[in-house]
Amino acid sequence: MSPAQEQAARTLLETASLRRTRPRLLVLQSLLQASYPVTQEQIAEQLGDKSPNKVTIYRTLEALCTAGVVHKAFLQDRTWHFEPAHNCSEHQCHPHFTCIACGQTTCLMDMQVPAVKSTHNGYTIHRQRMQLEGLCPNCSC
Ligand SMILES: [Zn+2]
Ligand SMILES: [Zn+2]
Ligand SMILES: [Zn+2]
Repeated sequence: MSPAQEQAARTLLETASLRRTRPRLLVLQSLLQASYPVTQEQIAEQLGDKSPNKVTIYRTLEALCTAGVVHKAFLQDRTWHFEPAHNCSEHQCHPHFTCIACGQTTCLMDMQVPAVKSTHNGYTIHRQRMQLEGLCPNCSC
C-alpha cells in the first residue's frame, strides 16, 4: 500500500468523523487500491496476512457504508461489490456495466444519467444506482 493511499484513507475517515481504526484504514486502502468494485472476499485476499477476520471486514464495510464513505456498487452472484464513494454524487452513483460474456464489470465514470424525479406521493429517492449489461469491447468482435 502506498503512503498516498494511506493518507487518502485517513482523510476520508476524518471527513466522515469516523474513528480511525486499523480495520477501517486497511479496508479503505484496499478499496482505494482496486480500480473496480470488489467483494468482501477480494478485500481479504488483497490484504493477505494483514487482513482482519471476515466478521470484522463485514462490520467495517457496514460502518463505512452507513457513514457514506463507501457505496454498495452492485450485486453480482448474490454478492455485494463495494467501492469508495468519492466518484459518485450525493444522490446518484455512476453506472456500472457488466459484460454477459466475460462477466467483467466496469465503472462508467463519465456517463451522465438523468436523475429520476419522484412522481409518487410519499416516495423519497435516496440514491439512484444503475447497472447496465451487454457486451464489452473485447467480447463484441
Ligand atoms: Zn456510488
Ligand atoms: Zn466481455
Ligand atoms: Zn464504480
